[in-house]
Amino acid sequence: MASTVFDSDALYRLLVTQVEDYAIFALDTEGHVRTWNPGAERLKGYSAQEIIGESFTRFYPPEAQAAGRPQMLLAEAARTGHASDEGWRVRKDGSRFWASVLITALHDDEGKHVGFAKITRDLTARRESEDRARQLAAEESAHAASRMLTVELEQANEQLQETLADAEEARDALAAAERFARGILESIADPFVVLGPDWTYRFVNPPAARMIAQSPGQNADGIVGRSVWDAYPDILGTDFERQMRRAASDRVAVTFEAKSPRRMLWSLLHCYPLPDGGLAMQWRDITKQKRAEEAARFLAQASDVFNQSLDYETTIDQVARLVVPTLADWCSVQIADENGTLRQVVVAHLDPSKADLARRLDADYPADGNASFGAYNVLRTGKPELYTEIPDELLVAAAHDAEHLRISRELGLNSAMIVPLSVEGGTRGVMTLVAAESGRRYDDQDLELAIGLAHRVATAVQNAELHRAAREAQRMAEDANRAKSEFLATMSHELRTPLNAIAGYVDLLRLGIRGPINAEQSAYLDRIERSEKYLLSLIHDVLSFAKMEAGRIALTPQVVHAGAVLDDVASLMRPQFADARVHFDVEECPPSLTAFADPERLRQILLNLLTNAVKFTPAGGRVRMSCREEDDSVCFSVEDSGSGIPPDKQESIFQPFVQLGRYDSSGKAGSGLGLAISRDLARAMEGDVSVESEVGRGSTFTLTLPRQAVRSIEEEALQP
Ligand code: ADP
Repeated sequence: MASTVFDSDALYRLLVTQVEDYAIFALDTEGHVRTWNPGAERLKGYSAQEIIGESFTRFYPPEAQAAGRPQMLLAEAARTGHASDEGWRVRKDGSRFWASVLITALHDDEGKHVGFAKITRDLTARRESEDRARQLAAEESAHAASRMLTVELEQANEQLQETLADAEEARDALAAAERFARGILESIADPFVVLGPDWTYRFVNPPAARMIAQSPGQNADGIVGRSVWDAYPDILGTDFERQMRRAASDRVAVTFEAKSPRRMLWSLLHCYPLPDGGLAMQWRDITKQKRAEEAARFLAQASDVFNQSLDYETTIDQVARLVVPTLADWCSVQIADENGTLRQVVVAHLDPSKADLARRLDADYPADGNASFGAYNVLRTGKPELYTEIPDELLVAAAHDAEHLRISRELGLNSAMIVPLSVEGGTRGVMTLVAAESGRRYDDQDLELAIGLAHRVATAVQNAELHRAAREAQRMAEDANRAKSEFLATMSHELRTPLNAIAGYVDLLRLGIRGPINAEQSAYLDRIERSEKYLLSLIHDVLSFAKMEAGRIALTPQVVHAGAVLDDVASLMRPQFADARVHFDVEECPPSLTAFADPERLRQILLNLLTNAVKFTPAGGRVRMSCREEDDSVCFSVEDSGSGIPPDKQESIFQPFVQLGRYDSSGKAGSGLGLAISRDLARAMEGDVSVESEVGRGSTFTLTLPRQAVRSIEEEALQP
């Protein structure tokens, strides 16, 4: 059953009068309040009597009123039918609430615009919780940001460059960020300073302050406000100054390395131009790394010196020169002799008179061999000694007498290192490096470099000695060889005289001057003569081999026609082939074929090969001689159908005195020198002799010689 409550007028009344959560009221076209429900009273604090007839604008805060917000909303609703809004509204008591507002234009039955209905809801509670959520989110992100910032701060040292670049970008926010920036700068572990456009110190972080305090004559407290050029006048005119000025004037970040003029410290500096025309400067001590680089360079240089000379005094001398003044003001190298006494090989000082003084000191006041420190101690123990400072007590302890002490003091020794010259076999000597005038103080890093250097010196000394020993041995071997060859040459000559006498007397007997000889006696004389000839050829071979070994054979290489040489030797050999009943041919040679050789020696080699061929080829066999061109060479071949040579003997037959079998005195015997001489001669003429052979089928010996002059053979052959 339908209730009257749902009749629209009644519903309207109920809505308007009973709904307390919504302020529902009507406005006329001018915006004056015409109706007022309890919700409106509760929300806005006005009673119906108070408010009806009043303008609705009072519900808006002054800033919204000033902006004409209420009128704008009405105009929008009049135009489109509706307007909605969210914003602050004001209660009667002046307090504010956050409202959601819906304005609807009202029309009468004729469609005439008669006013507005306005429904307002209090959203303050919702907004507050939203605000809280927003705030929580903001706080959370602030936390995250601060966590990130912490991480960034830790990385700030490495990232300084970026940080500063960012800082430059964020110039506008600089004021707010300054506190943070200062915090960052204070936390940078590397020295960092900010200089103003007038080159005065503006900011100095604690590490920079510490460094400044360490430099002689500086006061870190008073540095801010001082000009950098005043504080460090040494910088003026150096690359350091140029780079700083470049960063400031060109407005570019500049990174460079610089060595402090007074202290031997290296820094890697970054300069960043600042918006105000000043300069931020951060630097890092790279002395250790620089010195390691220097040391590596130095050792490489030293190695070059060692490679240049094998003579040990020269080497040591050069090393000493390299060491002074790069590493030391003085350098001395002492090597122990057989008795273990240290002998000074070299003393170097830039000033020669001081080097003399040191030499005299060493001679007049030799170091104590039993002292528990110093050169002999290093020699004994193989352990280096480092004297960062040389206190007077040390001079007193080492002095022999008052005069010695006086001179030692005069030298102004400042710091010293004594390093062993050690090789696998032990310590051979010591190297002493001393700093005096330079004011330098040695540390562990210097000692390491000195040890590395000493190791190279020791190796060079050892190499030089080995080389010297090897040279000595070679010289002795050469002497012995020469003596042997000379002996052989003399012997051969002495043997020929009695042999000539034997030959002469055999001839006389044959002539029958002392009476007729019978057939048997004649056969004996033949045998004597053959033996004499054999001995003579043996002596000839020994003599030429000895001469060759002694380097006494001079070669006169020239252009020779191969064909002519072949004809020559063939005509000399034909009778022997005929005697042995061995068939002998000589192949036609290309007429233009020439070799570059000593013609006499070439003939000698070919005769040797042909003599062997006839010797080792039985009657009825054949021998063939030929020549041909091959690349830049001419090849002469002697091919026989003789006994052949087993493969394992094909190399050894070229060795002196090697023969493969024993032969009778029928003419087959030889000295075992022919092939050795032939190969030596061929090689002396830039050629060679080789063999190919098969047992039972024969052998082919090939002599190879250059076609043209390769280089001055004569020159080479004349070398001992
Ligand atoms: P020699 O002939 O005076 O003995 P060589 O140095 O000329 O000395 O030769 C060395 C050895 O090489 C010879 O004793 C021989 O055994 C072997 N030989 C050389 N030529 C031939 C050849 N044509 N056929 C076979 N064997 C050879």
